[in-house]
Amino acid sequence: MQTPAHLKLPLKTKGMSIFRTKEGPFPLEMVDQVLQYLPLQPLSVLANLRDMEAVVKEHLERRITNTISSFSLHAKKTLNMMEETGTVLSGSAALEITSPGSCVPEDLNFYSPSGAAEATVEQILLTSGFALIQEPETAILTERTPFSKLNVNNGVKRVFRLSHRTTGKRVTVIESLSPSPLVPIFFFHLTTLMNCVTGRGAISFYPDLTETYTAMMNPRRNFAVVHKPMELVKWQGRGTAIVRDCDEFHPSRPNSATHGKRGMCQRAFRHSQDGWSLSTDSKLGPTIAWRLGHKSKDQSQAGLHDPVVHLLHEEWHLRTHRLLEIWVEYLAPMDEITHRLSPKTWRQSFP
Ligand SMILES: [Zn+2]
Repeated sequence: MQTPAHLKLPLKTKGMSIFRTKEGPFPLEMVDQVLQYLPLQPLSVLANLRDMEAVVKEHLERRITNTISSFSLHAKKTLNMMEETGTVLSGSAALEITSPGSCVPEDLNFYSPSGAAEATVEQILLTSGFALIQEPETAILTERTPFSKLNVNNGVKRVFRLSHRTTGKRVTVIESLSPSPLVPIFFFHLTTLMNCVTGRGAISFYPDLTETYTAMMNPRRNFAVVHKPMELVKWQGRGTAIVRDCDEFHPSRPNSATHGKRGMCQRAFRHSQDGWSLSTDSKLGPTIAWRLGHKSKDQSQAGLHDPVVHLLHEEWHLRTHRLLEIWVEYLAPMDEITHRLSPKTWRQSFP
């Protein structure tokens, strides 16, 4: 476990104390030293204690602002931009914020709602020394069927890659195909990365697993083509236990598992406001529903079910019935030399 790299800013509550010990007041700086190792779930529990709410809130804010600043971005302006555009931060940076000691983030991955990515990129370019990495792209039009829900190009419309001129820090802005920025997150390869930071707080969609350094796989067909190679080995090297099939948690049937464990099931129908998610942001946008990829239980139909993501209560299949089909456009990066579609570059949309 690495020591968390946040908490460089001075405490607003410096010198104050809320607890008394036999030797006298227990300084808030020491409380903060303890808090820095805690994942989101125990932090949220502590915030329910009288006098602790403000301390925990300030602590979590500093975790977030220090992480953003460490990538050469202006923290306050970035958080304002995130709130205005509905953009979230995900990937390894959000994991390290929700579960300290999990990893050392190598880059920042922002996820913007459909139509909001250009404003996000503009704000980043305005407030810092970042430059956009120009890459040839091509528009691809694909039919969305009632069965594929939002499963078009892993929920990604476009990827913008930026690099800082002097520090070399890397930032990626991924535009969602949906009004919700969360859609691409549920196509990630591991549940341990299914966390995000909004302009107002932090959310973990698999808090119990994530804080115990356990990752459930989100299997799919063509896993090795879609995801970056060696990803699972990398996370195992960081001390994360990888669960390939949720049968390991509930060997009989998911329904016989405890309520707490039922949410930790690849076959469970989940949504972003359900009781298994942990959120410190009450103003999260459209509710997104998802089901992870999983092995087929049907003996006659051996194979895998891909992950499925959609807007909760979306009645678009009814609309589809009228319109017959919906066409979705996304921009795919091409290899600079061959000008062919480049899956290698495309994997940048995953953390
Ligand atoms: Zn299960």
